[in-house]
Amino acid sequence: MIHVKACTQCRLIVNEAAECPNCHSTALTEKFMGQLIVSDPEKSDIAKKLDIKAPGRYAIKLQQR
Ligand SMILES: [Zn+2]
Repeated sequence: MIHVKACTQCRLIVNEAAECPNCHSTALTEKFMGQLIVSDPEKSDIAKKLDIKAPGRYAIKLQQR
């Protein structure tokens, strides 16, 4: 089973990783809701709203601890 986690810093979704390849944070959580594929952050209003600057798969909502 693959454990999918989301970075709590930049919301990037990673598979089986110990750190986020985007911002190198190790603060990953399995508790997130929704996924958003961003292919062109420059042209995506929701990417701007979520402060996403690189293409990738992101969590829409992180569950706070
Ligand atoms: Zn990150």
